[in-house]
This record gives sequence, structure tokens and C-alpha cells, in this order.
Amino acid sequence: MLPAMQPLIIPRKEHRISRKKINRNVLRTLYRLHDNGFIAYLIGGCVRDLLLERTPKDFDIATDARPGQIKRLFRNCRLIGRRFRLAHLHFADEILEVSTFRADALPEEPDTESPAPNNHNPRHLKDDTGMVLRDNVFGTPEQDALRRDFTINALAYNIADFSVIDYTTGLADLRDGIIRPIGDPYVRFTEDPVRMLRAVRFAASHHFVIEPATWETLCELSSTISRATPGRLYEEMLKLFLFGAARPACGLMYESGLLAALFPELAKWLGENPDRLNILTTNLGCLDQQYQRGTSPSPALFFAAFFGPLLEERALAGHRDGIPIRLTQDAVCREFIAECSKTVSIPGKVVNQLRNVLAMQHVLHKVPPRRPSVIARRPEFTDALAYLHLADESKGASSSAPAWWNAFLSGKPLSVPTETPTDKAPAKRRRRRKRRRRPAAPADTIHG
Ligand code: ATP
Ligand code: MG
Repeated sequence: MLPAMQPLIIPRKEHRISRKKINRNVLRTLYRLHDNGFIAYLIGGCVRDLLLERTPKDFDIATDARPGQIKRLFRNCRLIGRRFRLAHLHFADEILEVSTFRADALPEEPDTESPAPNNHNPRHLKDDTGMVLRDNVFGTPEQDALRRDFTINALAYNIADFSVIDYTTGLADLRDGIIRPIGDPYVRFTEDPVRMLRAVRFAASHHFVIEPATWETLCELSSTISRATPGRLYEEMLKLFLFGAARPACGLMYESGLLAALFPELAKWLGENPDRLNILTTNLGCLDQQYQRGTSPSPALFFAAFFGPLLEERALAGHRDGIPIRLTQDAVCREFIAECSKTVSIPGKVVNQLRNVLAMQHVLHKVPPRRPSVIARRPEFTDALAYLHLADESKGASSSAPAWWNAFLSGKPLSVPTETPTDKAPAKRRRRRKRRRRPAAPADTIHG
């Protein structure tokens, strides 16, 4: 653990955090804890973002109240987690997380609410490479700040006097736009390799620079990212790529070796031809623009943008061997995702959506289609159309299909030279009634 430093306390009049920017439920929770004699801080990313006048994604509350005490204070509280209990406060439209201050090592004072440490059940456990496997010890506010990942993520906002508390160099780094781990980067990235992705994420989303020695360490350790669990890495992928900074994040991942460690086949494919990186970054840039316009891309659209160019190229190669494109695309996709899932587990539902988005491209390219409304009602239509647009842009192509669909959706279908688009079902062929043959009358009845 790091040695204690005198924290820097910035009084209300010297910082920009206004309570108007803090969600009402969060404020009420902070006040209730404070009114009952507990320390109550906002901590982590929300303080960072409030100081930068950005809207925080979520608010984290930290307190010296133990989980049992929090439960007694809030009727809407549910405790979760077996080893380290966190309090979830359930409001009509959101759940707030309240955690008790934690430390990296055993606290000086024994705590009464968590199980006593013993050899079989230690509360702080690392594997033989230094990765933290378990870490659940109550601590002081300062210890809680020092166990966080980066200096800019360790700032606290104290509801008692509305001051900001900086236990490290968070404020200076925030001002200078620097991502700096708390402590030795080698140790901190080894303890939890996901911190490397978090460093890339904050650098990309905040236009910050990763401190040079930290960047070097990150590049050196990038291959260890695959030690994190596949489920956690999937969650991190979404945070990295769905929130408006996919393009710069991909660039940093490529340069650092993180991309090669997570998606070796994709990195190999990119390395073979410099134009491919261009296609990929243009795709991701389109997703970032979509986010700036107010819609976060779906995971399926992101994976289509990310893997689509590679998968389509491979499917086309298979198709040239005479196998139908639909079949090759499915096989290529299945094989590629199975390989990826060893490091990043993409849920089956998202994989299916991705396959449908790619499969629909052939349908969308044929304009005018027979029954556009039927196509537009398919569940993956919106994502498939978004992919059609971005594939067109990244390839520098200008096929008529994206414009045709835009016009169709705006209610003014374009006429195309061949035939006007029609949404009518094809005219039913009239079934010819079979003429009943009159049974041939026996000759004697005809002639009587
Ligand atoms: P975002 O804006 O994406 O929510 P954030 O910094 O708030 O960014 P969270 O995942 O919400 O990220 O985590 C909240 C806080 O918890 C962080 O700011 C940081 O202080 C701490 N934290 C999260 N993950 C780690 C980690 N792997 N190691 C150390 N501290 C972490
Ligand atoms: Mg957060």
C-alpha cells in the first residue's frame, strides 16, 4: 500500500462542482448518511466528470457506514455480494451503489462485519503472478482512494462541506490531461490487467495522454490482458467502443498490442494490409458520430463494424470456391467468433444479431426490393441499414442502396431506372380452374 500523504482539500468556492449537477437520489442518500453521523463521499469517475463539467455516467457513493448500518438506514437497501458486501439502493428508476471504504491490505482495526481472515479464506489474495484474486477489507477514506486505478479517478466530494479531496495528484493530472496510475504501473497493471483497457478508455474518451512511463509499461504488459475473465473483457469492450470514442480507443489498442492480445486474428489481418486499418477506423469513426448525434450503437452494430470487413472478405473468398455466400458467411462467422470467445465472450444473442446484420447486406443491396416494408420490419433492420451506410462510407463506394432506403424510410421512395419500387405483394397468379371433363357418354345413350 502507498504511504499516506496529506490530502489536498479544495473548498467549495474554489471548484466547479455544483449540487445542481448531482442527481436528486444521490444527494438525498449523501445527506441521510451525513445526518446520521457517517462520512459520505461521492467518489471516482463521477467527481472527475463533474470537475470537467461532463455528465457522469453513474454516481458512486462511499461511506464509513458498514453494510449492516446502511441497510438499517435505508428501507430500499439490498445488500449484494457474499465476500465484500455492497449496498444497492433501489429507487423507482435507478439503483445506486453505496460501498463502505475499502483498503488494499488488512485494516489495523478488526472489523466486525466480515469474516475473520484465515489461511483458507484470506480477504486479500493474489495469484503467483501478482494478479489480485480477492480484495475485500474495510479501510479508511484515504486507503479507499489509494486502491483506485488512476489519480483522476481517486478524487472525492465531501457532502459535509462540499469540498473536493485529493489524496494523490488527481487535480493536477486532471488539469494537465494525464492518465497516471496510483503507484507503480507495473504492479497496478499486474494486479488487474483490465486497468490497461481502462487507461486506454479514459485517454480516448477524455482526450488525455497516458503518462509516458505508464504507456511503456502498458505496451510491455499488453499480452497479459487475456488473463482477465472473458465476461469482464466483453463488458469492457462495450464501455470502450459504444460511447463515442471507439476510433481513438482502437488506435491506442492497436499501437499498444492490446488488440493483438484480445483479437489475434483481427490484428493479423490488419497487419497484412494498411488499408484495412483505415476501413476499420472509418467504421468506428461513423459509430462515434452516431453517438454524438445521440444514439449509442448496439453491441451487434459495433461488432459488425469491427469484424464485418474481415468476415466479409473471408466469406467472399469461400464463395469464390463455389459455395453459396450465405453458407460461407455463416461458417466464417461461427469459426471466427468461437476463436474470439476464448478471450472475450460475446453473448450468443449478440452473435446471432451480428450474423443477421451481415446476412441482410445482400438483401439491402438489391434495390428496389420486392417488399421493403417486410424487410424493414425484421428485428435487425436498423443495424443492418446502419452497417450498409458505414460499409459504403469506409469503402469509399457510393452504391444506390443506402440512398434508396433512406428515401423509402422518409416516405418518398426513389424511382430507379429499371422499375419503380413497389411495396405491393406480387400479383397473385390466377389459378386456372381445371375444366371438368364431361365423362364420355356411352355411345348407346347418345344415340338412344
Ligand atoms: P465511467 O465514466 O465509465 O463510469 P468510472 O471511472 O466511473 O468511469 P467505473 O467503472 O464506474 O468507472 O468505476 C468507478 C470507480 O471505481 C473508478 O473511477 C475507480 O475509482 C474505481 N475502479 C473501477 N475499476 C477499477 C479497477 N479495475 N481498479 C481500481 N479501481 C477501479
Ligand atoms: Mg462510473
